[in-house]
Parts: sequence; structure tokens; C-alpha cells
Amino acid sequence: MSKVQNIKGMRDHLPQAMLLRQHIVETVQRVCERYGFEPLQTPVVEYAEVLEGKLGDDEKLIYRFEDHGGRRLALRYDQTVPLARVVAQYAGQLALPWRRYAYGPSYRGERPARGRYREFYQFDADIVGSASPLADAEIVALLTESLEALGFPGFTTLLNHRQVIGGIARASGLDEAAAGGVYRAIDKFDKIGADGVRDELLRSGVAPEAAAQILAMVQIEGEPLDVLDELSARLGADERAAAAIANLRAIIGALGEMGVSPERYRVAPRLARGLSYYTGLVFEAITPHWPEGSLLGGGRYDELIGQFAGRPIPTVGLAFGIDRLHDVMEELGLGPRPATTATAFVTVFSGEMAGASLALARELRAGGVNVLVALEPSGLGKQLKEADRKGVPFAIVLGPDELARGDVVIKDLRSGEQRSVPRAEVLAALGAA
Ligand code: AMP
Repeated sequence: MSKVQNIKGMRDHLPQAMLLRQHIVETVQRVCERYGFEPLQTPVVEYAEVLEGKLGDDEKLIYRFEDHGGRRLALRYDQTVPLARVVAQYAGQLALPWRRYAYGPSYRGERPARGRYREFYQFDADIVGSASPLADAEIVALLTESLEALGFPGFTTLLNHRQVIGGIARASGLDEAAAGGVYRAIDKFDKIGADGVRDELLRSGVAPEAAAQILAMVQIEGEPLDVLDELSARLGADERAAAAIANLRAIIGALGEMGVSPERYRVAPRLARGLSYYTGLVFEAITPHWPEGSLLGGGRYDELIGQFAGRPIPTVGLAFGIDRLHDVMEELGLGPRPATTATAFVTVFSGEMAGASLALARELRAGGVNVLVALEPSGLGKQLKEADRKGVPFAIVLGPDELARGDVVIKDLRSGEQRSVPRAEVLAALGAA
């Protein structure tokens, strides 16, 4: 038999990792529901043609295969394109604007690296059917609140607009066809730096003066409104860029009204975002603790759903990368770290006394405590060792003496302390512990 192993770039998540991952997902889900988002789940497999023609250069990363009936299928690349299909398919049943969230795996045939996997989990939140800047702001508020609820230190959301980049390309004398190459080059700014971007622009045929101008504009930095003023001064004559800047101003105004701290976001004209379906606001959340890439990303895509629905349906949304959030939280020691799901381990003295232990366990579970029960009436030492190895904080010992007295011994396995507690007070004692 060949070596037992999983597929490269696809990970097994053992219980310790899963407990933190679930905490992340539950936290983000709670924030989404506070904003009235509703859950959606779609299959992992789609017809290949649903995904094709939507992802630009990234299309080569799609996992494609044929099923038994010879149908051309694909593993979903993200949860955005499936959302677009759903909106078109159930048009009559969905009241727009519709806020939805979705959680599940996505697949990309990328070269695996730190924080980059071939199977990874995304948590998406989108507002379908609204062009209002309030919708854009709501998505940014939601991501800010989620990262704050997870305890992320020092994260920043970079905001930009596709037509700011379009305007930068046009102001540098490039036409729409060349703008794609500009997006791709600028998108790599944080990885390859200004010189790398310059080389890339020159390689894609951009003249040196135009490349210099593009580089000067994408590096504008400062307070959000100052950056917008500077961009206005340089791009104000370009109608689409002026509208984009006004849109960013409206979004930032709404963020202020929603109580999002201005510390939490910046306007970054260098942010392009690879995916080709974005049409308006684009954003990414970054942290100095993860220089390799973004924690999450998203933006406005007003035309993608129209490719399925036959009429444009303006939409804005984001995808949290659960794997990235998890990797960073793991490294920084953030989040609760329970060793296991159980808080109490009930010992079993003997075959005859198993019933008493099972009754105690049932009582504690009914009271909301997660309980493990010994499966073998082996020696007490062995049972306590099992509980300790699992990382259960408390063992509850119930032997014939305790049964006769109507109490139990609660042993704190971390400190080693133990005390007798009347049977009727066990729940309260664990609650207080
Ligand atoms: P995207 O769908 O490309 O906009 O990505 C949204 C988020 O998903 C990113 O910010 C990452 O956190 C995460 N992500 C994207 N690609 C990968 C990958 N190959 N491995 C792990 N996480 C990813």
C-alpha cells in the first residue's frame, strides 16, 4: 500500500485546530446575524460553465473534471460566482436587497505556500441588489466589527475603487485594454514593491513616463480624506474617476456615522485586487502580523450577477479567509484555547456502579455541562490520567463511599486540588469553577 497521506495543499483539521476555527466562524456569523444577514449554502460542485468567463486570469486555477455522465463540472473557486447563479435561478423567491452569508470550502489549483492552500474555507457576506454606498459601508463595518470581536490587533482595511485605478491608467495615457495589465501589475505592489511594479508595467508595454506617473499616484498616502483630495486634484477631470472618488467619500462618511473608527481603514490607490469581476469599491484587510497577504478581501461587483440574470443586479460583499484568520490567531495566541469540548470527566468505579455515574452525567449535561464518562471501570488513577491527557479541567469521582454519603469528589486536574461536594451542588460548583 502506498504511503497514507492527504493531498498537498488540502489540510486535515484536528480537534485542537477545529475548536479555534469554529470559534472564528461562530464569531463572524454572530456579527453577520446582528446585521440581519441570512444563511445560504450551495453545492461545492458547479457546472464548469458557471465558473468559466468570470475570473479572468485566475480561471486557470479552477479544478475541472468530468462526472460519470460526461458532464463538465468544477469545484467552486469562491462563493461569489455560486451566489450569482443562485440569485438568477431563484429571482422570484429572493426579496432584494438581500443580505446573505455563506461558509464553506473553496478550491484553487495554486502553488501551496504559507497561508495559501488548495482547499481553504471562506466565510462570505454580501448585500445583493443595492447600489447604495450605505451597503458598501455596512460590509466594511461588519468586517471591522468581526475582526475586533476576534481580538485582532492592529489590522487595517485598505479601500480603493476600480475606477480610481481606471482613472490612473487613463491619466497616464493608457486605454481600457491596457488597464488590465495595469491592474495586474499594481495588484502585486505589496509583494514586489515599486521597482517590481515598474518593471512589470514596462514589460506589458507601458511607456516609462506613464509608468512613473502610475507609480507616483498609487503611492499616495495619508488620512483617507486627504488621499481623496489629492486624487481629486490629479484625476478630477476624468468623469468616472471623479464619480469613484465621490463614491468613496460617501462610503467613508457612512462609516463615520456607523461608528467605525477612522484608525481602522485607509484609502490605498495601490489596491487593485486580482479578481476581474469587481466594478466599484475594492478592499482588503491586512495586518503587520501577516505580511504574506490579506486576511479577507472583497468589493462591489455590479455586473457579475447580470451575466446569469440577464439584468444588472448591483452587489457588494466580502470573503473572510478562515484559514488565514486561524493561522494568524494561532501564531499570536489569540482566542479561547480550550483543550477539548468537555469540562467534566465522570469516573466509573465498577460495572455495578456505572448506572450511578451515567445518571450523574445525564444530570450535568441537562444542566448545560459538557461531560465525558469513562467507558471502562478501570483503576481510578488510569481514568484520571485519561481525563488529564484529554485536557478536561475537572474529574468527578463517584465511588461507593461518595454514593453512600450523597456527595462526589471534584478534582481540578490543572491544580490537583480536590474537594467533596454534596451531590445536589455539583452543577453550581462546576458553574462557579
Ligand atoms: P478572494 O476570493 O481571492 O478575494 O480571497 C478572499 C480571501 O480568501 C483572502 O483574503 C484570503 O484570506 C482567502 N484566500 C484566498 N485564496 C486563498 C488560498 N489559496 N488559501 C487560503 N486562503 C485563501
